[in-house]
Amino acid sequence: MVRTQIQARGIHDEGVLEAMSRIPRHRFVSGTSAFEAYGDFPLSIGHGQTISQPYMVALMSEELRLLGIERCLEIGTGSGYQTAVLAELAAEVYTVELVPELLERSRRLLEELGYTNIRYRSGDGSAGWPEHAPYDRILVAAAAPSVPRPLTAQLGDNGILVIPVGDSRNYQTLMVVRRIGNRLDTRESIGCRFVPLVQKARGY
Ligand code: SAH
Repeated sequence: MVRTQIQARGIHDEGVLEAMSRIPRHRFVSGTSAFEAYGDFPLSIGHGQTISQPYMVALMSEELRLLGIERCLEIGTGSGYQTAVLAELAAEVYTVELVPELLERSRRLLEELGYTNIRYRSGDGSAGWPEHAPYDRILVAAAAPSVPRPLTAQLGDNGILVIPVGDSRNYQTLMVVRRIGNRLDTRESIGCRFVPLVQKARGY
């Protein structure tokens, strides 16, 4: 998977490649064959949600440029697979998931796999997790029509946020936002397709 889907498409971050070689992805998608678990596509994880395609996990992780000292916020725990990658590459991970059953399943598995640097919260992550802000890195695994203000507000100086942005359910753009003092520097990465970020406060 790492060689043919990830390295072959230009991901070079050694930390990302090593973490994804180590983490048992099949444990995060129970009930599927090894072919499917390590296949080049997203998969259903129940509750209408999906585990991201391995390449997308790798790209988002590389875009975060993690050194191992960061405090990271993740919105959309889902299967917990991306959470594991972040936990391997950053110092602390704060992960928020809207569907309580998904959060509990992921928490159990991540604890069983021995991760001790993850804090879990069930709820609407579009408002971030203000109690532990600022974050050095923020990763959003669901698409929003625009970058939610509470998230950029919780991004520390020199912090990086990656988020799929777009109105369409079929096509969005992965955006990389960097805070430099009071300025936000925004760059487009690639086209992508994620489930929508539910924003309760805004009624969708
Ligand atoms: N990285 C995950 C992707 C999960 S899909 C993985 O690879 O498994 C996106 C997840 O975002 C879903 O589990 C969905 O329930 C969650 N989600 C959607 N809107 C949310 C919100 N407002 N707050 C927190 N989680 C949300």
